[in-house]
Amino acid sequence: MHLTFLGTGAATSVPLAFCRCAHCTAARKTGGKNIRRRSSLLINDDLLIDLGPDAVQAMFACGKDLTAVRTVLITHAHSDHFDPGHFTTRMAEYACEDPAPLLICCSKTSLRVLSDYTEREEGIRPDDNAGRTGLRLSVHACAAGETFACGKYHVTALYSRHDPSKDSRVYIVDDDRVRVLYATDMPAPDEAFYQALAAAGPVDLVIADHTYGPGMPDRPDSAHMSAHDVARMAKKLSALGLLRPEGQVWATHISHEHTPVHDELEAFAARNGYHAAWDGLEMEL
Ligand SMILES: [Zn+2]
Ligand SMILES: [Zn+2]
Ligand SMILES: [Zn+2]
Repeated sequence: MHLTFLGTGAATSVPLAFCRCAHCTAARKTGGKNIRRRSSLLINDDLLIDLGPDAVQAMFACGKDLTAVRTVLITHAHSDHFDPGHFTTRMAEYACEDPAPLLICCSKTSLRVLSDYTEREEGIRPDDNAGRTGLRLSVHACAAGETFACGKYHVTALYSRHDPSKDSRVYIVDDDRVRVLYATDMPAPDEAFYQALAAAGPVDLVIADHTYGPGMPDRPDSAHMSAHDVARMAKKLSALGLLRPEGQVWATHISHEHTPVHDELEAFAARNGYHAAWDGLEMEL
């Protein structure tokens, strides 16, 4: 399984358009791993997790081609993960030639948000047959805990408490050889999440929400994880046997808040049992 991190930033990206904090200032000056697009992961060349506003630029920056993508897993309908305008470009009237068959998997709530958007913009809804035909795609509204086949993968959708109004999902992607948990956006896992993961079985790699850096005090009501949450999660996953012995945890969805520049963040992460991803990172599992 080949992974490409198309983006590793949170909703605000790094640097923020208008922010003059030390982190954003350093990012503007040094570039490289300190520049973060909105989070998205490409698996091989045919499965994409989240299609946000930076998708096309990410494709060029990473030297990837998204025309082979057959499945898009949408975690939730926040704007950094879900830019439905990309789907409307599949319509014949935009002269989109010969698009590959595409399956969108998301919660019923995300499908409704997508359908409301396309109805407002184009007068068609992918939650009905005519809309799917017009957009030249198929959809699968996945329940929490459900495992389903798509292409050469088995995907398990898990419930994330990130934003209950959005009925968010995180996903395990399994190619019958390795299993990857993509776990953003979500708060620090509760017992129910660990139980759901135990029911799904251990994984080889965890990619986790890391919105706030090591300087962030613990906030039990947070909708996202901090550096300390990810460190605790990494330890617990290993202790519970939910991360296989050679397995790794990588942070994504990294914001400028309480976060040092990349090299310092990676040093903190390495001391705490995980790693910090960057835009363009590729790995072979
Ligand atoms: Zn997000
Ligand atoms: Zn900033
Ligand atoms: Zn979100």
